[in-house]
Formats: sequence, C-alpha cells, structure tokens
Amino acid sequence: MAHKKTPENSSNLAGGEFTGADEARLLDERITRYGVAHTRSQAMLEHLRKTPSEATIKTAASLASCGNYLHFREYFTVGKVRLHSATFCKQHLVCPLCGIRRGAKALGAYLTRWQVIQEERPDLRPYLLTLTVKNGPDLEERQSHLAKSLRRLMDRRRYFNAGTRGAPWTELCKAEGAVYTLELTNKGNGWHPHCHMIILATSQPSQTDLSTEWHKITGDSMVVDCRPILGDPVEGFMEVFKYAVKFSDLTLADNWHAAQILKGKRLLNSFGLFRGVEIPDSLLDEPLDGLPYLDRFYRYLGDSYQPASIRE
Ligand SMILES: [Zn+2]
Repeated sequence: MAHKKTPENSSNLAGGEFTGADEARLLDERITRYGVAHTRSQAMLEHLRKTPSEATIKTAASLASCGNYLHFREYFTVGKVRLHSATFCKQHLVCPLCGIRRGAKALGAYLTRWQVIQEERPDLRPYLLTLTVKNGPDLEERQSHLAKSLRRLMDRRRYFNAGTRGAPWTELCKAEGAVYTLELTNKGNGWHPHCHMIILATSQPSQTDLSTEWHKITGDSMVVDCRPILGDPVEGFMEVFKYAVKFSDLTLADNWHAAQILKGKRLLNSFGLFRGVEIPDSLLDEPLDGLPYLDRFYRYLGDSYQPASIRE
C-alpha cells in the first residue's frame, strides 16, 4: 500500500488537539507540571556543576539556559493556549521539561498518522505491546541485551514476511505497522530497560506465544504484555511517547549515568504503516494563525513558574 504523507499541519496537533493540553482552562495545571520538570532540571544542573568534566560542563551550560522563561499565547476567542517561545536545551535524557515537549510532539505526529491510516484501513486495531528484560546491575549490558533481542525479533518478522526458507513465524508478523520506544527505570532493584510498542493489526497477537518467542530470543526474560488500546487512543499512545528515562525513579547520579549510556542511541523506531512519520524539530507549539491573542509570560522563580510582565 502506498503510504500517505503525514499532513503538513500535523504539528498543530502535537500535544494539543488530541490531548486537550492546550485548553486555556488547563494552563495553570500545565505551568505547574512544567515547573516541577524544570525544578528537576535545575537539580541536575547543580549535580553536574559539582563534578566538572568536559561532558558535564557542556550539558550544564545548556541546562542553565533551558526553560528560564516561557512565553505563551492565549487565543481567547477559542479558549486555547499555545507555547509561543522559550529556550530549550533539547537534552531529553537529563531534562524532563524537554522530555515532556519532545513526547508531546511525537505523540501528535503519530496520532495524526494513525488518523490517516484508520481512514484507509478501518480493519486495523491498535495494540500496546510491552517487552521487558530482567533487571540487572550493569546498565550497558542490559541495554544492549534488550536492543539485540529486539533486533532478532524484528529480523524474524522480516525474514518470515520475505518468505525466507526456514524462517520461523512470529506473532509480530500480524503487525502491519508499529512504532516503539525504549524506556529505562531503576527502582533500586537494578536497571530495567524495556520496550513499549504500538502495533497495528487486524487480530490481536497472542501474548502467550509472544512470551514463548521472547524467552527463546532473550534466554532469560519472558515478561511480555499485549493488550488492545480501547476507546480514546491518546492514553495508549502516551505510554509509548513518555520519557525515555523515568526521572522520578532515578537518582541524579543514576540519571546522568543512564544519559551517558543512551546518548546517541536510537530510542524510537518504526516499521510498516508507521514508517516515515516526521516529528517536528521545534519543541514549541504551532501558532493559531489569524486569531486574536494575549501574550502570557512566565519566569521561573524559586521553585515554580510565576507570571511576569513583559516590561519587568
Ligand atoms: Zn531542557
């Protein structure tokens, strides 16, 4: 099937139209959430300043300029608020604020593609598949174990679909498209890398069979979860596009270590109908052109964002 290009205005929807996050009545909530995220970034900044090295100095310099002010535009005739300008460090592995924005942009882009696919293929349903590997003390080893295992699972699908002789069937062959991300947690019992995947299929892949396959591939892990995404797809999709590292579970030192290991790795992948979705580079919202607006400025002061006047 020919793939339709993602509509050009897809970024309009990022974290807004689908999730309702741009509703003016939710602005206070949003500001609070961004404030909590920025507080964590500032804690990381302080942590890095205590251990100067080439890498920490560079990261700290970008963190220091990230999110100090936020400029929103309130389109009061339609009750919407869009983030109009801000400085972002784009270091989503150490900065939760940039992590939130990056996730919202990815969410918007993939939900837009899903809408287009749905029109052409009403027989497809979305499923959320989670593949995990056993916890372990060595993050690099666990991370590469997960990455290699995923590659083998993807290879199986590809070889079977290509009709390669002797290639075994995998339940993943039911997927006509998928997008998947890697996530990392550490709740004190070792590193726990795992993969969240949205699968588009006409019938549900069997969790039992996938678990058996996954155990054969990994040799040590069989925990697999596969469930349909019912109702509003936003929640299921959000599971895939949230942070790559679970900041709230990690100490600053562990967070920094994880960022060093994950740096430069591809943490979002796709195949089939979800191939080629473009996530906008900018972490800002798209403006609502042609509508009257009020500017709203916020400055980070103490431990939260406070409204600021432009003439201050
Ligand atoms: Zn940032």
